[in-house]
Amino acid sequence: MSGGRLAGKVAVITGAGSGIGRASAELFAREGARVVCADVSGEQERTAAGIGDAAVAVHADVSVSADVRNAIATAERRFGRLDVLFNNAGIGGPKRPITEQDEEDYDRVLDVNLRSVFLGMKYGIAAMLRTGGGSVINTASAAGLVGWRKNALYGASKGGVVQMTKATALDFADQGVRVNALCPGMTWTALVPAAKDGAPPPADGFAPPQPMGRWGLPTELAAAALFLAGDESSFVTGVALPVDGGYVCE
Ligand code: NAD
Repeated sequence: MSGGRLAGKVAVITGAGSGIGRASAELFAREGARVVCADVSGEQERTAAGIGDAAVAVHADVSVSADVRNAIATAERRFGRLDVLFNNAGIGGPKRPITEQDEEDYDRVLDVNLRSVFLGMKYGIAAMLRTGGGSVINTASAAGLVGWRKNALYGASKGGVVQMTKATALDFADQGVRVNALCPGMTWTALVPAAKDGAPPPADGFAPPQPMGRWGLPTELAAAALFLAGDESSFVTGVALPVDGGYVCE
């Protein structure tokens, strides 16, 4: 499409094979962006195929520097620039008290959730600066803003994303690069075991403890990411935006 809120823009979205990343790739493309769909699962191919010519799929493990650099280089090579970087891929990690957490899980959760954001911004912002700037969105979590039991590793990774976002927003505020974090509450994606097979949220089943009394939907997170990606948020930087049905308010 030639119009749309992201017309002419080029986006890299990680975790684009599922959930929030897939919904965002589809929405960004509908709003006129060309999209590099990056994921480690193989499912990024399906997302890109569903979008068509405006999308390209890239295999990337976001914790691996060469893969992240390749995703960004693909945007520049294929579409000529990088305007929007959505560092969204992430994993949950084991839910246990810290005394029962394994050192290997610490490394894995921090690598996938936080090192990924470091690598994405290190190489992605450098690319944006080559064409005058852009917008970075990092997926943190409500769990990066408040404590959750048995969640020290994930919480540390997402709290780290929030602070990495804020420091980087300050560093590039006067250079045309905006950096914001998206903090989902409990959202009905494959990260939730019961949602894995694509089943809709249960109408009368377990509802998470969010004031709205329901799960968030990937499309609702994508809508917030679209706002942060596009020019409608041109004066917004360094924000950690909860999209959580009121969860962190309580
Ligand atoms: P999801 O499982 O549907 O999607 C996550 C995607 O990330 C998957 O496609 C997966 O293959 C990909 N991924 C995992 N490890 C990767 C790696 N090393 N390299 C590249 N891709 C990798 O889950 P989602 O809910 O859409 O998750 C998106 C983001 O939202 C994550 O950062 C997650 O922590 C965050 N989040 C989710 C919730 C929730 O309730 N669903 C709440 C708060 C934050």
